[in-house]
Amino acid sequence: MKTLTRGDAIKTITTHYIDGSFVESHGREVMDIIKPTNAQVIGRVTLGDEEDTRHAIAAAKSAFASFGRSTKEERAKILRRLHEAASARLDDLTAAMVEEYGGVVQFAGLIVQSGVNAFLAAEKALQELPLTRSWGKTTVTLEPVGVAGLITAWNANALFICLKLASAVAAGCTVVIKPSELSSLQTRVLVEALHQANLPKGLLNVVTGLGNVVGPEMVRSPDVAKISFTGSVAVGETIMRDGAKTMKRVTLELGGKSPTILLDDAVLDQAIPSALLMAFLNSGQACAAGTRLLVPKRRFDDVKRGIRDAMRVFAVGDPADPKTTVGPMVSQKQYEQVQSYIRKGIEEGAEVLVGGEGHPQGFEAGYFVKPTIFVNVKNDMTIAREEIFGPVLCVIAYDSEDEAIRIANDSKYGLHAAVLGTDLERARRVASQIRAGRVVINGMTDDPQAPWGGFKYSGIGREYGQYGIEAFLEPKAILE
Ligand code: NAD
Repeated sequence: MKTLTRGDAIKTITTHYIDGSFVESHGREVMDIIKPTNAQVIGRVTLGDEEDTRHAIAAAKSAFASFGRSTKEERAKILRRLHEAASARLDDLTAAMVEEYGGVVQFAGLIVQSGVNAFLAAEKALQELPLTRSWGKTTVTLEPVGVAGLITAWNANALFICLKLASAVAAGCTVVIKPSELSSLQTRVLVEALHQANLPKGLLNVVTGLGNVVGPEMVRSPDVAKISFTGSVAVGETIMRDGAKTMKRVTLELGGKSPTILLDDAVLDQAIPSALLMAFLNSGQACAAGTRLLVPKRRFDDVKRGIRDAMRVFAVGDPADPKTTVGPMVSQKQYEQVQSYIRKGIEEGAEVLVGGEGHPQGFEAGYFVKPTIFVNVKNDMTIAREEIFGPVLCVIAYDSEDEAIRIANDSKYGLHAAVLGTDLERARRVASQIRAGRVVINGMTDDPQAPWGGFKYSGIGREYGQYGIEAFLEPKAILE
């Protein structure tokens, strides 16, 4: 079978992208692709095995022999070509994300756009990054680490592929990508697009397969120097442990339980919608989702009222409708996980302010859940400690600014945080005390040159900008 054909009732993918062309899978296992809005089969993907993975690694290794010696200008040109090629399929990519994992179209569009922009952002960072520094009789060069294995999560798979690929190419690495098996359709659209960039053969290789088949083969291969992984803590731990045998360099972008601190001088009409937007980002299936909202005790009743009003905007709906803010969960498993946390929250004594168990009315067919907000949550409850990865927000009361900071930092995670308040100096002072890789003040915002990554269990290393490129480089000193 061939590449995805638009218009087919059932889309089938049987090839991987290795050494510059689409090649039939050696692995024979076939997986259904299920549409989350109605649980119907919309596609089938033939999964790669260890042999496919070794084939891809060998192609990347062979290509590294020349691409590893490429100049900054050659890499910059390739990044511009990748940007142009990916830009040509923006709408197709967004449509695939909406169909395949139920990403709401307004968010999926932004994700795809930032993925495509990652190539130009990496080019800018590369131009500004000195790859050679000298003093006296010493010269230090930043050398590409080698073949890089890039493993992505499903929730913004196209963005993760573009981001990791852009940084790796800027550094002079060749890559083998293992996309999430839950993102096979969007990966195919993206790879078809990137194929048009006329890359050196073997620079980009993509094997779609199960995490526990393709992933470990990449992790144990002595020919893969680096793994850049986005996904769960559990898999991140496995990669770090098993990668030690071949001294793998690792970047791990893992989970979060991000706090949003609403300061007592915040204007609630602005702060509450902003907090809800961050909580329900990507239907709550976002590593950076602000799922713990810390609220001053004396404004608690006003906040509860404000939340009830603002929730009218966060209605569940068809993810293809531009007005929809919350779509379905990606899978039945994810649906059940969210339900079990909602039950747990109730058992542990938190109060349901909005939402609750079960499907929202009229959305029984797919994996839709009710956006749920718990109040009277204590930070030691399971729902406040564990990543739920769904639209479930915990509202926690605090007495003082110091207590808010203490609660925010009382988490095994440290990926992202937000501070909402009127006095900017104060908001900055609070932000400076949060142990997280990124803190946004007064709303979700992005800067493709700013580092992204986590403290503590949220991971190791950083992506974006020069920080992301440096993760694929090794310093080498020559002394005379
Ligand atoms: P996951 O860990 O289940 O899967 C991630 C990827 O790892 C998939 O491609 C999967 O096939 C692969 N994998 C599974 N087992 C493997 C193994 N043994 N060896 C190697 N690879 C293996 O995570 P997910 O469900 O796809 O994504 C959700 C998680 O990702 C959440 O915890 C979320 O917070 C996190 N995430 C983090 C970021 C970030 O930037 N920090 C971004 C998005 C998602």
